[in-house]
Amino acid sequence: MAIKIMLDAGHFGKYNRSPVLSEYYESEVMWEFSVLLGERLRAFGFEVSYTRGKQEVDMAVYQRGLAAKGCDVFLSLHSNASDAHEVDRVEVYRSVGAPHAERLGKAIGDAVAACMGVPHGAVKAREGSERGVDYYGVLRGARDASVPYAFIVEHSFHTNPRAAAWLYGKKNLSTLASAEAKAIAEYFGSAIRGDINRDGSVDAVDYMMLKREILE
Ligand SMILES: [Zn+2]
Repeated sequence: MAIKIMLDAGHFGKYNRSPVLSEYYESEVMWEFSVLLGERLRAFGFEVSYTRGKQEVDMAVYQRGLAAKGCDVFLSLHSNASDAHEVDRVEVYRSVGAPHAERLGKAIGDAVAACMGVPHGAVKAREGSERGVDYYGVLRGARDASVPYAFIVEHSFHTNPRAAAWLYGKKNLSTLASAEAKAIAEYFGSAIRGDINRDGSVDAVDYMMLKREILE
């Protein structure tokens, strides 16, 4: 079976308008991006689904994470906002309970940053008021649904004039989708779950190799 990826366009309707580019709504641009990213991921062989079937439909954040039950990867897609309009960088958050997700988060963030021509630092994890519990509802939901790789990806800041204009360009958005999908495909090596020798199928050889690794 293919590795399952759940895509979550961060917001619905007309939400989070850019203060520096009036045509830009985070909800609309990230919805469009989620469709492009889904196409690219499917082309790599991943199974892709969406938390919301329609752009106009809202869904509570925790429920969206929870909807990823049975998926291997959950991506909540956003552009960020800051009062400091000069801020122009990529940010990736993982669940506080998933340090193993650091490497994939870093690969995604670095690929997005290289494509957009901005920096990306370390993958972040944000705790809420309760220790060990995620601050972000989508990540709480995905963790409760036992999704091994759950991220919030902030594709820089729509409060930055350069970043907003860049993301609003259709060609850029398409290039960005390709770069993000490629980073995920490269990380897993194969879109087939359990395909240890990466030959496109899961068979006795994969089982033999895994068994040897665990038992010997
Ligand atoms: Zn957002």
